[in-house]
Amino acid sequence: MTSHDALDLFRQSGALLEGHFRLSSGLHSARYLQSALVLQHPDHATALGAAIADLVRHLNANLVLSPALGGIVIGHEVGRALGVRAIFAERQDGKLTLRRGFAMAPGDRAIVVEDVITTGGSTRETIDVATAAGAQVVGAASIIDRGDEGARLGVEFVALVKLQVPTYAPDACPLCAQGNPIVKPGSRA
Ligand SMILES: [Zn+2]
Repeated sequence: MTSHDALDLFRQSGALLEGHFRLSSGLHSARYLQSALVLQHPDHATALGAAIADLVRHLNANLVLSPALGGIVIGHEVGRALGVRAIFAERQDGKLTLRRGFAMAPGDRAIVVEDVITTGGSTRETIDVATAAGAQVVGAASIIDRGDEGARLGVEFVALVKLQVPTYAPDACPLCAQGNPIVKPGSRA
């Protein structure tokens, strides 16, 4: 699957909209990205997971670790394609933690998988969870890379698609300046 194919799946499923949007943060953007809308289709999730697996197979990971909730579905699909288990870390009292009996051991080779990486913050936090549990983190991967933070993760990083999603304060939005009508994603026209 090429980047173009992956973006097509996002567009077809309404997971990537182009226009003029008011995001839940209050910022404006010309793009709206909601990967849950493509991953709700199991066939798409499987295809995206297989494509990521092809990019990371050489790392010989023996488990996938994802941050909840956004990373769970794609992490599971990457695990399926690699034939390894897929576990997730979730927040407890604000801190990303392994729960539910999920464990890693020295000798485990973990790959961290997310749907979208923006600043890399949650990825770094997930890497720390694996390291603290004694595993070796051999790489990180996402469907979409919204930033340039991959290089700063300290491990090999791959993404299916590199996509800038610039955001603007309402009073500095070029789309507003053009008089472009604004839409709140998820609202029905
Ligand atoms: Zn605007």
